Amino acid sequence: MSGGLSREQNGFRERVRSFVEREVHDARVAEMDRLDEFPHDIMLKMAQHGLTAVNVPIQYGGEGGGDLEVMILCEELSRQCPALSWTLGNVILYGNNIIGVNGSEVQRERFLPPLAKGELYFSFGLTEPNAGSDAANIDTHAERDGNGPWMVSGGKTFITGGTVANYVVTFARTASSRYKGITAFLVDTQDKGFSYSKIAKLGFRGSDTATLFYDQVPVPEDMILGGPEGLNQGWGQMVRLLNGERLSLAACSLGIAQSAFDAALNHVRQLPPPTIAGSRQRVEHRLAEMAAQLEAARALAYRTAWMHTNKMECVRETSMSKFFCTETAKQIAAEAMTIMGPDGCDMALAAQRRLRDVLILSIGGGTSQIQKNIVAKTLGL
Ligand SMILES: Cc1cc2nc3c(=O)[nH]c(=O)nc-3n(C[C@H](O)[C@H](O)[C@H](O)COP(=O)(O)OP(=O)(O)OC[C@H]3O[C@@H](n4cnc5c(N)ncnc54)[C@H](O)[C@@H]3O)c2cc1C
Repeated sequence: MSGGLSREQNGFRERVRSFVEREVHDARVAEMDRLDEFPHDIMLKMAQHGLTAVNVPIQYGGEGGGDLEVMILCEELSRQCPALSWTLGNVILYGNNIIGVNGSEVQRERFLPPLAKGELYFSFGLTEPNAGSDAANIDTHAERDGNGPWMVSGGKTFITGGTVANYVVTFARTASSRYKGITAFLVDTQDKGFSYSKIAKLGFRGSDTATLFYDQVPVPEDMILGGPEGLNQGWGQMVRLLNGERLSLAACSLGIAQSAFDAALNHVRQLPPPTIAGSRQRVEHRLAEMAAQLEAARALAYRTAWMHTNKMECVRETSMSKFFCTETAKQIAAEAMTIMGPDGCDMALAAQRRLRDVLILSIGGGTSQIQKNIVAKTLGL
């Protein structure tokens, strides 16, 4: 073991890092940010490199990794291009993870092999205009006439990958109970009655975000997540995914913070030596603090992932990791911009993009305020 990771996991980090160096060039990252278009070309390369298969069990054609490998992947991609960790999330989080954890055996056999090859995209459709932090407040509903298909009606908003997904895991109300009346449906986006509209946003551009509309979309019973037994089980299924998603977002923050720190350090190293001894001390101290903050955040997140992998209770630590890593990364990205002076706000350079990206991380997957509410609750408050 090294730094809490196994030799194989450190080898995997090297593999992802060399993929990024080879295939994800600065100019392509800037173009993705400018055009805000889903990067099908890089997704294809990631699939060819086996990155879409990382967390699919071996028997379904995958590499058999888990949350730690997903975190490594998100952290390394985010050092160069955070949006790629979200576009890949449309396979590894919302496909592999959701189907692997909650799917029926039939659904695992049907979806995991093509997901592992990067041939399908999935989205996670929970948030609605009146149900974000209060997710159980959803209005989207599904009704059934006799033995016919379930008919889904309503709308979702801010759904990652909503314009490219083949399937949207759509949470809909199927009974009146607040938590035990929610069902997750695997909605085929080619079906009649489904449509979307793209949302332009500040950061993570290239990972598309959409508002989804459901007008009596028919969904057969066997496309309930988990099969027919999944009826009214959607809330519990969603809760089982939360730790993994929050840790992967913490890892994205670490990647952004690391690259912001590296850029600021590089900038200061290239400055001419100070003419008055000690005059650069404030900047040096700030870089020392940033290095320490980053190490502390990384240690918390990876220790929590280790707890999660070893099936230890870690709801508190996961929420701590999510808000601590994202808030720390925000501070580091902003400070790096300041240290870099005009280079920090030059639209031709990456520093300003890192700040735009990192601001969004404290919203998706549950805001920093909601994570603090959870931690406070575990403290008995
Ligand atoms: C880029 C992006 C991608 C996203 N992708 C997806 C996706 O793929 N799938 C999906 O389902 N959702 C997705 N979301 C939605 C995201 O999960 C929600 O935006 C988030 O949970 C916050 O919900 P909200 O937008 O309704 O904000 P609100 O709940 O309206 O919150 C507004 C503000 O009030 C604060 N607040 C709300 N309630 C409390 C409280 N009880 N205590 C303290 N403060 C509170 C919040 O912290 C926030 O600062 C995405 C969002 C973004 C920005």
